[in-house]
Amino acid sequence: MEKVLVSACLLGRKVRYDGHAVSVSESILDQWRAEGRVISVCPEVDAGMSIPRAPAEIFAGDGYGVWAEAAAVVEASGSDVTDYFKKGAQLALALCQKHNIRVAVLTENSPSCGSSAIYDGSFTGRKIAGAGVTAALLRDNGIEVFSQYTIESANNVLHSKNR
Ligand code: SF4
Repeated sequence: MEKVLVSACLLGRKVRYDGHAVSVSESILDQWRAEGRVISVCPEVDAGMSIPRAPAEIFAGDGYGVWAEAAAVVEASGSDVTDYFKKGAQLALALCQKHNIRVAVLTENSPSCGSSAIYDGSFTGRKIAGAGVTAALLRDNGIEVFSQYTIESANNVLHSKNR
């Protein structure tokens, strides 16, 4: 049974920076869980960050920029937490490699897990197109990354005969 990497906060784990989970009601997730496919990950907590923790955003780019050392992950106070985010991403990639995972469903808008959109680093609620630090690393390593809004597409890829 091919496994899928899923953000822990989408699975009801209260691991977000604010101590909450993300509420999703998605039958495909339930089905995957029943099939034993789900491998849960929270890159930020796995890297040693606390719950709750200060919100962080990517400044001057997105996750690809972070890996290119052109962007950084910062808290509103200005503290640079890039190293935590990179470590969390590397742990997530190691999990994928251990379980031969080719598909991930990660939480949209997060500086780690966002796959289409992230906050712009101004802490004003503005979003830009881009990927978080973990999503970028996984994609660079051939893993297809989806969000809670595109779970059906992830399920289609998972069941595609040509894989
Ligand atoms: S790092 Fe990912 S899994 Fe962890 S709380 Fe943020 S969005 Fe959820």
